Amino acid sequence: MAAQIIDGNALAQELRQSFKARVDALAAKGHRPGLVVILVGENPASQVYVRNKVNACLNIGMHSEKIVYDADVDQAVVLAKIAELNADPNIHGILVQLPLPKHFDEEKVLEAISVEKDVDGFHAENVGALAQGNPRFIACTPYGVMKMFEKGGVDLAGKEAVIVGRSNIVGKPMALLLINAGATVTVCHSKTKDLLFHTKRADILVAAVGKPKMITGDMIKPGAVVIDVGINRLPDGKLCGDVDFDSCKEVASLITPVPGGVGPMTITMLLANTIEAAERKSR
Ligand code: NDP
Repeated sequence: MAAQIIDGNALAQELRQSFKARVDALAAKGHRPGLVVILVGENPASQVYVRNKVNACLNIGMHSEKIVYDADVDQAVVLAKIAELNADPNIHGILVQLPLPKHFDEEKVLEAISVEKDVDGFHAENVGALAQGNPRFIACTPYGVMKMFEKGGVDLAGKEAVIVGRSNIVGKPMALLLINAGATVTVCHSKTKDLLFHTKRADILVAAVGKPKMITGDMIKPGAVVIDVGINRLPDGKLCGDVDFDSCKEVASLITPVPGGVGPMTITMLLANTIEAAERKSR
């Protein structure tokens, strides 16, 4: 039997609708949630992501603006802007779009953002809080995946969860969230010796690699829940995930598509984190 699909577009819409009342309530108290997105350089993909983030905020009545710098800007200029935004009471979230140009020290820039405004959840202190099982801001993509488990009625406790990919923005925080939810977690990466051994026994499989359709139906356990984080552009211009949807949907019980799966949830959780930051400030 073909797997049930977890529709990320529909869930994102549902959540964003529910956020509007919270935004209105904050605005009425003079705390309209505000997000600033900083973009350095002209990476076309980053430009699209930044535009989508700003528009998603504006669509639900939040304040949002982007600040764009040339690729050769001095890091000190960006750090000074972050310091200014940290002190601005009307701004609740600050996000620096990654990747940054080579002459930047990415860690230094991320650490410069106030932990209270780090709505991407990349600051070491926020990652540490998540590792301790007491999260303050959760990285948006894995946070969105957790909402998809919730929507799909997936009970994570005691399940074998396998994550393919160990990046700081997806794989690692995903592993922490699944551990906190009671799953038994394995994280695979490019040095993993026998990927198939791990994927085959996964009740929950999260693919976050960046390799088109690398997870095929014969690599997964019947009835598995398969989450595809990957976004890859094929030579014909179409988008596809890290999961071969057609073969996996015949084996899995629940699966996310690309596009229309995890992607829209990432921005949705960015909105959630910014609203949460504003609510904390207004208390
Ligand atoms: P990274 O490139 O930072 O990490 C990729 C990971 O995959 C690494 O840990 C790497 O291992 C591992 N890997 C590479 N090849 C293999 C292999 N053959 N077998 C097993 N593991 C392998 O990517 P990101 O985490 O940033 O992104 C992953 C994907 O998710 C991309 O397609 C990206 O576009 C997408 N993405 C989607 C988002 C969304 O909103 N839906 C948000 C963020 C990312 P190693 O560490 O050893 O190099």
